[in-house]
Amino acid sequence: MKVHQVAEGLLRIALMPPDHTNVYLAGEVLIDAGGRFDAKRIISTLENHPISAHALTHAHFDHYGGSLGICEALGVPVWCGAGDEETVSTGDMSLVLPNPHNLLGKLVRGMSRPGVPVGRVLREGDLVGGFTVIETPGHTPGHLAFWRGYDGVLILGDVAFNRNPLTLRSGITEPFRLATWNSALNRESARKLAALGPKIVCFGHGAHLTDGARFSEFAENLPSPVSIRGDRE
Ligand SMILES: [Zn+2]
Repeated sequence: MKVHQVAEGLLRIALMPPDHTNVYLAGEVLIDAGGRFDAKRIISTLENHPISAHALTHAHFDHYGGSLGICEALGVPVWCGAGDEETVSTGDMSLVLPNPHNLLGKLVRGMSRPGVPVGRVLREGDLVGGFTVIETPGHTPGHLAFWRGYDGVLILGDVAFNRNPLTLRSGITEPFRLATWNSALNRESARKLAALGPKIVCFGHGAHLTDGARFSEFAENLPSPVSIRGDRE
């Protein structure tokens, strides 16, 4: 695990393989938790940093899988978006997939773990570790981004990838459609974030960008269909 100081009060912890998946420490709030086998190493990597709460961008196994271990070991609550609350509290990650009944849905249900009680449902405008919560539904129904206006730092979870977690190829792309609850809505969320004019952009997968305009350009050039086949509502 490599720790990058992204900006004042913000660390990016890049899980293995390098930059595959990130978790962030914003002030004293751990944002995301990697997969279930990452929890111990995240805790040991951050042992000299106080952690008073744990928040999620979204409830997919590679971001939320470590939450149970983090919350139990540190005795901290988990906070998430309203649309992902049922998944977090029951542990059934198929609920936020575009199709919970196909093969992927069954596989993901098989990976379900005990749920984690949600200490707080986060809403647009809430403050978390010095960042403002921005509701960005689409990749999952309750997906959240975190924004710090005074220095233009954005943590956008999986609204976009900066590294393909399967091929490990770098570059800004949309998240996998197969695992995205509503891709058309995710594009709207990407444009909502681009309109903020971020200077530094932090992703769930891949290195952070210090030239935020590259993300804004990507988001503004996405096509805007009313709906995409296979999307859920
Ligand atoms: Zn995801």
